[in-house]
Amino acid sequence: MDTPLDLFSPDYNVAAERFREAAASAGARLERHPVQEDGTEPTLTIDVATIGATVPRRTILVSSGLHGVEGFFGSAIQLRWLSCLAADLSVPEGTRVVLVHAVNPYGFTHRRRVNEDNVDLNRNFLNPPRRYEGSPAGYAALDPLLNPASPPSRLEPFRLKALWYVRRFGMPALKAAVAGGQYQFPRGLFFGGHVPSTSTRLIRGRLPHWAGDAPRVIHLDLHTGLGAFAQHRLLLQESADSPEVEWYRETFGHETVEPSADGDSTAYDASGTLGGWARSSLGSARYRFVTAEFGTYPIVRVLGALRAENRAHHFARPGSPAVERAKTELMECFCPASERWRTQVVEQGLTIIERAIGAAPRT
Ligand SMILES: [Zn+2]
Repeated sequence: MDTPLDLFSPDYNVAAERFREAAASAGARLERHPVQEDGTEPTLTIDVATIGATVPRRTILVSSGLHGVEGFFGSAIQLRWLSCLAADLSVPEGTRVVLVHAVNPYGFTHRRRVNEDNVDLNRNFLNPPRRYEGSPAGYAALDPLLNPASPPSRLEPFRLKALWYVRRFGMPALKAAVAGGQYQFPRGLFFGGHVPSTSTRLIRGRLPHWAGDAPRVIHLDLHTGLGAFAQHRLLLQESADSPEVEWYRETFGHETVEPSADGDSTAYDASGTLGGWARSSLGSARYRFVTAEFGTYPIVRVLGALRAENRAHHFARPGSPAVERAKTELMECFCPASERWRTQVVEQGLTIIERAIGAAPRT
C-alpha cells in the first residue's frame, strides 16, 4: 500500500486518474461530471465514487477540493480510504459511502482556492431569498488592503497592516469582514459570485441522488488552512446549545468538535456555505454536516498568501516568477510540504471517515 506521502499527487490530472483507478479497484460505481471544457486544457471533472448499499439506511459523503488547492490534501485522504477499502476494510450493511473528488477542479489544476469564476465555492451556495449582492460591514474598507490592483511585490507591509487591523478591531472582526463572503468585488478575495457556479449547480442537482433516501446522512467536507499545524477541528453548523452536538462529540471525540459561533472559535459565520445549503435543502434533522479543517500556518500568513496569489492571478504576467512565487506560497499554506504534516493529516482524515462510517445510527 502507498505510504501517506505517496498519496499526495503532483497535480490535478494525476490525482483524478489515481482516484478513478483506486475507486475502480475498490469496486465502486463511478460518475464523471465535466466542469470546464474550453478546449484549451484537459477536461476537468468532478469524479464521484459510490460504494455500498443501493438502498442505504445511512449515507456517508466525503467531499474534497471545494477550495481547489486544498484538493491535494483531500484527494490524498480519499485515496487512502479507497486503498484501505481495497485491502481490508468493508462498508457495513445498509451503509453507502460516496466520495466526491475535486469539487473545484479548476482551482486544483491552477493552484487557486477559487474556481474559474474567481468564486469561493463555499460562499456560492446561497439559499433563496438571499441574493448574490453586497458585502459584510467592513469589507469595502478593507478592499484596498486586501485586493490591490497591481502585481504582488516582495517588499510587502501586508502582515504589519493586517496585524495593526487585528490589534485595533480584533480577530473576530477581521474574520467576519474578510471571510464571511462578499458579492460585490468580483476580483476580490472571498467573492461568492453573482450566480451559482457550474460546480454549485452540479452539487445541488446530484447531492439528493448521492444521499439516496437514507434517513441519516453524514457529510464530511475536507478543508485546510485554519487552525493549528497538523491538527484538525470539526466545525459544525449547529450552535453549542443544540442537542445534536453531543452526537458529534461522541462520534468524533469531544476535543475536536467545534459548534458554530463560539466566541473563540476557529470558524467564522459565512453565507452561502455548502453545509448550510445541504442541511436546509435535504433536511437538518437528517443531514449531519462537518467541515473538517486541518490547520497549517497562522491566519495572517494564510491570508497574505491568498492575497498575493489573487493579485498575481489578476495583475501579473502569466508564468512570471511573481506568479510562481505566489502559487508556491499558497500551496505551502494549504498543503504544507512537511512530512509530519502530510503523514498526520492522512492518518487523522482516515480516522474521521472511519468514525463517521462506524457511527451508531440514531433513531
Ligand atoms: Zn477550505
